[in-house]
Amino acid sequence: MKRIFLFFLYMSAYQGYSQMVDQSLIKLDSISLSTQVEAITAIMQQQTQDSLRHVFMTEHWDTITFNPYKEYQLTYPFGITFSDSTYASPVAHKKVITSRYGWRNRRAHKGIDIDLVTGDDVMVMLDGKVRAVRTFPGLGKTVVVRHENGLETVYAHLSKQLVKVNDLVTKGTAIGKGGNTGNSRGSHLHLIVSYKGMYINPEYLFEFDEENSIRNQELWVNRKWVTPYLHSSKRQTSIVTSTTYDEALENKAQQKKIYVVRKGDTLSKIASKYNTSITAICKENSITKTSTLRIGQQLVVNK
Ligand SMILES: [Zn+2]
Repeated sequence: MKRIFLFFLYMSAYQGYSQMVDQSLIKLDSISLSTQVEAITAIMQQQTQDSLRHVFMTEHWDTITFNPYKEYQLTYPFGITFSDSTYASPVAHKKVITSRYGWRNRRAHKGIDIDLVTGDDVMVMLDGKVRAVRTFPGLGKTVVVRHENGLETVYAHLSKQLVKVNDLVTKGTAIGKGGNTGNSRGSHLHLIVSYKGMYINPEYLFEFDEENSIRNQELWVNRKWVTPYLHSSKRQTSIVTSTTYDEALENKAQQKKIYVVRKGDTLSKIASKYNTSITAICKENSITKTSTLRIGQQLVVNK
């Protein structure tokens, strides 16, 4: 009897012990497994980043053409990542914006104009590699710089270019002197920000204030950000950024509003109310500038 009891005692003690060992093994295993997964994920992410960087800096690398992405089809929204939280100001003085990205005199103004005096240094905003140093029609003396996140910044109307094609430049390096070359009235910098051939309203990515901040390290671009007629060159758009894919989809859905025409409304009144252009309203609703508005008519407007 005593023996049997001792035997059970021994067995239960052994089971307890072996369970303890098993559990600690599981624990050990799970720690090493998750650590391994983490390490592998980090390596894979690094490799993805490296290969993306490589693709951006080599594919469509053309030192002659202004836009080497002509055939490229982008799907929206698309993400852009920044390794920095600030950029270098392209001018050494306070940035005075004289004309914004948007609709201007019935034409698309696909950049932002920053005031300067001829001969002022113009600095590159982010680290990168000089893709083109040329005189382009309209833009005059221009420097195009490609960055590792796929973005390109373009500095136009320069009086002098200070870099060569394929030069590696760190942010803040003077790449030219400001001027008035090309189709320009008065010396200023015409700054273009593009991604795979699409000209983005720079204000969605960069804050043109004294802090020189990049709005977020991850930004999702939707079609509105690359559509000049949805912005006015005279007024700042209310900037709503998207930092995730889902947020970009949500913002896109919230962008449109149904407006019901009231007595005394004109297309220009409605356009200015929603900070959009007559052209945008016409395109959105398949009407022409001379169409007569009816009271009660529903129009889709982009906010
Ligand atoms: Zn301009």
